[in-house]
Amino acid sequence: MIRCPETGRAIPTDMKTDRETFRCSAVFFARTYCKICRISHEWFAKEAWVHEPTEELRKAS
Ligand SMILES: [Zn+2]
Repeated sequence: MIRCPETGRAIPTDMKTDRETFRCSAVFFARTYCKICRISHEWFAKEAWVHEPTEELRKAS
């Protein structure tokens, strides 16, 4: 996920990457189409995060 610089809302990057791969690509640069602004935002991997909704549940159990 990345944070939309215009609205501050989280938007999906539509990239399927696991956390370890993501972490190793610190200088990774990409462009994602923002459906909110209807333009493409450029972003760096360090500004983005991997959305893993079940991670906290796994840790707790
Ligand atoms: Zn946007």
